[in-house]
Amino acid sequence: MSINLDSWRQLPAAQQPEWPDRGELDKVVAELQGLPPLVFAGECDNLKADLAAVARGEAFVLQGGDCAETFAGATADDVRNKLKTLLQMAIVLTYAAKVPVVKIGRMAGQFAKPRSKNTEIRDGVELPAYRGDMVNGFDFTPESRVPDPWRLLRAYHSSAVTLNLARAFTKGGYADLRQVHAWNQDFVIESPAGKRYEQLAREIDQALAFMRACGAEPEEFHSVEFYSSHEALILDYDRALTRIDSRTGQPYDVSAHMVWIGERTRQLDSAHVEFFSRIRNPIGVKLGPTTTPEDALALIDKLNPDNEAGRLTFITRMGAPKIREHLPALVEKVTASGAQVAWICDPMHGNTFEAPSGHKTRRLDDVLNEVAGFFEVHRDLGTHPGGIHIEFTGDDVTECVGGGAEIVEDDLALRYETACDPRLNRGQSLDLAFRVAELYRS
Ligand code: PEP
Ligand code: MN
Repeated sequence: MSINLDSWRQLPAAQQPEWPDRGELDKVVAELQGLPPLVFAGECDNLKADLAAVARGEAFVLQGGDCAETFAGATADDVRNKLKTLLQMAIVLTYAAKVPVVKIGRMAGQFAKPRSKNTEIRDGVELPAYRGDMVNGFDFTPESRVPDPWRLLRAYHSSAVTLNLARAFTKGGYADLRQVHAWNQDFVIESPAGKRYEQLAREIDQALAFMRACGAEPEEFHSVEFYSSHEALILDYDRALTRIDSRTGQPYDVSAHMVWIGERTRQLDSAHVEFFSRIRNPIGVKLGPTTTPEDALALIDKLNPDNEAGRLTFITRMGAPKIREHLPALVEKVTASGAQVAWICDPMHGNTFEAPSGHKTRRLDDVLNEVAGFFEVHRDLGTHPGGIHIEFTGDDVTECVGGGAEIVEDDLALRYETACDPRLNRGQSLDLAFRVAELYRS
């Protein structure tokens, strides 16, 4: 029996662009359908197995990248800097917390954004909101804000370029553990996080030298597994890239290893939940502070009826002041139901506020506080704090406040470069990794 991959079309799909010309969209979709997969179904299954280990409490997820990737950002430098930061964070966690880390980029496909308002007003001028490079342009002009379906095709090619770089960097020697110092090299020398990292890298060197002297040189030290993920928001795109796996006859969204449903599109009878119920990738669902245990259980029934470990990850994003109050009931009821899910903390999206300068920002302290709350709740309930999901960049931007190299609200304008939400910079990301390692150990 063939699986209906278009059942979602009968249901309400929130946050979809109003394409000016459906005929053009059809042409793009036809072209996307003929293009090769970006990832293989077997790789998605490998990630599912890794996430099953997370659900069992044996591994930790580090998922992160830009809020919104841009086509202009698909350069060797940008991709390398993000990967370098991710690798540094992962090594801090692996070495300091002694836990295997599953590395997933919000990369190679994170080009579409849900928006709370349909329009944006600047100096009295109102234009359609920017919805990610996959949909329209960031420039504040009427022309650039018109949704253009050909951007879906650019998103595919940009993802291919990014993934190619990521595969080369992680398999071609750059991710070799002997490079732990190299990843830190161009870091601001006086930065507190950089110094702290350097100390840890020296210890790793010692451990490696000891192992080599003993004759041990395991394969795992020379490359890392890196997975891609994005919010599968624009259903025409993800549907066009869904293929039947020749090994199993099952459908996979081959635009990324993992895809997730955002807080704004996770309604049980939504097109997004319906589409996700049909694909076999490991999937995530964001859960905000208004989520009830019943909502979570209904999502489990619909999205993981066979209770397959690794299939479903809940990414909670409650906000620092709310997590200790709202998370316990969710985790308790889901655990009591016997459902196998991985729990990940997104400490970014519940902690956004507007600085007096008008910049959207987040405080590193709030981010750390939400992560601490996440650990507390899971420790109290005897469940596993399975990972973190963050927005970061490998550059020294000034978008979030706080951190070892203290960025204050007045600094925000210095290097505010995000196309959407404020990201942690490299130092702040490392500060966070050290803190998570402490929480994990305690
Ligand atoms: C995001 O991840 O950028 C996002 C919009 O998150 P959420 O769906 O949790 O609001
Ligand atoms: Mn975001």
